[in-house]
Amino acid sequence: MFKGFLNESILKKAQGKGVITIKIHDIRDYSEDKHRKVDDTPYGGGAGMVFTPQPLFDCIEAVKKKAPKAPVIYMTPKGQRLTQTKVEKLSIKFTQLILLCGHYEGIDQRVIDALVDQEISIGDYVLSGGELAAMVMVDAISRLVPGAIGKEASHEEETFSKKLGRKKEYPHYTKPAEFRGMKVPEVLLNGHHAEIEKWRKNHCK
Ligand code: SAM
Repeated sequence: MFKGFLNESILKKAQGKGVITIKIHDIRDYSEDKHRKVDDTPYGGGAGMVFTPQPLFDCIEAVKKKAPKAPVIYMTPKGQRLTQTKVEKLSIKFTQLILLCGHYEGIDQRVIDALVDQEISIGDYVLSGGELAAMVMVDAISRLVPGAIGKEASHEEETFSKKLGRKKEYPHYTKPAEFRGMKVPEVLLNGHHAEIEKWRKNHCK
């Protein structure tokens, strides 16, 4: 699932420049079961399967040896909602993160109790697996890492950024100045930086 995503656009370039490194760990590689089984039926009954503790403990412990200071973040709809402020905090505070993706019904609670530092949700809806949520995290955080995107300033002034007072960004226009009778606001064409600033500030919501 991660291949296409990691080999496109900003993430591809950032990895190429050595600005970020992303490593994928397959839980099955850590299973002691001869069929590489990683899940089992839930105690107490009910539908769905739950990730068993053994492969997750072994995998997380192995990864933690290489990244001892990285917090283990479990992607789950039950977690704290991801916001741009949270993304900024994570990108400033940590140089490495371990993102844990669940599947099926989720993971054995003992993994969360013993090894998980934070639980994060990307929104109030339920996905089939944590991979998409992890990709959202990787994308949102990576673009804030210095050197990941061309112009640092381009993410300083964006929707939810501190510079825009956590508001939604002003509208953008590019050439031509008139298209199918629709004109670009005059103020953006006149080159008066102070006026443009004012217009943009007034058009943040
Ligand atoms: N039984 C779980 C519940 O009711 O909370 C839902 C499990 S979900 C089908 C499978 C996995 O997808 C979860 O373990 C989690 O890793 C991931 N996931 C689903 N929705 C998510 C969300 N909104 N944010 C982050 N991860 C999510």
